[in-house]
Amino acid sequence: MKTVKNDTQSLNEKDRENVWHHISPYNEKNYPMIASEAKGSWITDHQGNKYLDAMSGLWCVNVGYGREELARVAYEQMKKMAYTSMTQSHEPGIKLAEKINDMLDDDYMIFYSNSGSDANEVAFKIARQYHQQNGESSRYKFISRYRAYHGGSMGALAATGQALRKYKYEPLSSGFLHVAPPDNYRRPAGMSVEQYNLQRAGELEDKIIWEQKETIAGIIMEPLITGGGVLIPDQVYVKEVEKICKRHGVLLIIDEVICGFGRTGKAFGHKHFDIKPDIITMAKGLTSGYLPLSVTAVRKDLYESFKSSEDNSHFRHVNTFGGNPTACAVALKNIEIMEQENLTDRAAVLGNRLQQELEELRSHPYVGDVRGLGFLMGIELVEDKNTKEPASAERIGKIIGDCKTNGLIIGKNGDTVAGYNNILTLSPPLSSTDDDLGFIIDVVKKVFKENEV
Ligand code: PMP
Repeated sequence: MKTVKNDTQSLNEKDRENVWHHISPYNEKNYPMIASEAKGSWITDHQGNKYLDAMSGLWCVNVGYGREELARVAYEQMKKMAYTSMTQSHEPGIKLAEKINDMLDDDYMIFYSNSGSDANEVAFKIARQYHQQNGESSRYKFISRYRAYHGGSMGALAATGQALRKYKYEPLSSGFLHVAPPDNYRRPAGMSVEQYNLQRAGELEDKIIWEQKETIAGIIMEPLITGGGVLIPDQVYVKEVEKICKRHGVLLIIDEVICGFGRTGKAFGHKHFDIKPDIITMAKGLTSGYLPLSVTAVRKDLYESFKSSEDNSHFRHVNTFGGNPTACAVALKNIEIMEQENLTDRAAVLGNRLQQELEELRSHPYVGDVRGLGFLMGIELVEDKNTKEPASAERIGKIIGDCKTNGLIIGKNGDTVAGYNNILTLSPPLSSTDDDLGFIIDVVKKVFKENEV
């Protein structure tokens, strides 16, 4: 006779039998949490336990959970017209493109897709086609940085600079090269941050020259490396990369998938660095994760080369769902909420407070570095502060587990192959209340105190 199981247990078992989760090992003893409800910065699981989600899902729920306005806009748009492809056009897509240009404070053409990976694939295809149409068909290679993540599809994964994510899926798209990013915490002793950042930029320029500059189509980078361990470059590095791109006719593609939409305390991460990217990719915070949507924003002058009447100058890339009117309407409302509630400024305020409060962790025996920009923070754990040997997986797992036991979800990021999978990350909703922030600070401090040995 079948035993009647309590509801959560039966869901757990069905989950294990039927759902293929990303990353998680399948022999894990624990079941993944079944999230049931969410409001503000808080998620409730199927058994009624509440957790503050200090990772905003996968760095995306910028306006927080449970926004009825977004649900209403989606409902109204679905009733009116749930779907049309971008073969036609529609009001939400047109208005959203205009709004994104306002936020960028510049003139870009907006191409819609569904995910961050898609947006980067589109960027690569547009860059290659642009060079061809511009009489430079030899330019096909892209340079990105080790430790960066740019997506899971074959081109975006090729751009990704984390070997373990690629291992077993190769060969990926060809023509992707990598250089080391600045990791200021681990810079050589005796070198200033500025000297070191200029050196790293110099290595990038060397790569372009050694590879033959006429073969390089573009450089792709995040304003700061987020998933690879919150590596924040010096101002001088980013400006120098822009200059190098200009000097060698290489397009600068900035991946704003995580940094965009207020996360770093400015509308876009690159706004901290006073640069003008040629192409900008966006996703996540664009809809705060309520619906899938992404954008590849392309400078108008690049677009010009696609406007000839010749049939072969069309951008031959079609996707069924990209620019779905419901997703665009939700994105517009999401941005409106961000503006009404000043969430970009709030990210800066909350981030400063978090950084100030967590500075004291530097005296903890296993904390090597505490760093952040806006409401995005990394805490680098080491076994030994002198050698900077990365903390063991057990030590890191224990801290993450203890935070969860205390009702706080935080992340772990970095790069496994390089041995630097040792950075705890916090990227809470920008709508977090003062009490939410207080809760995050209290739990993190408490857990670190309890893990001093
Ligand atoms: N770029 C960056 C910087 C990302 O962090 C991610 C996803 N975490 C992607 C691209 C890929 O986005 P998606 O998962 O939506 O394909």
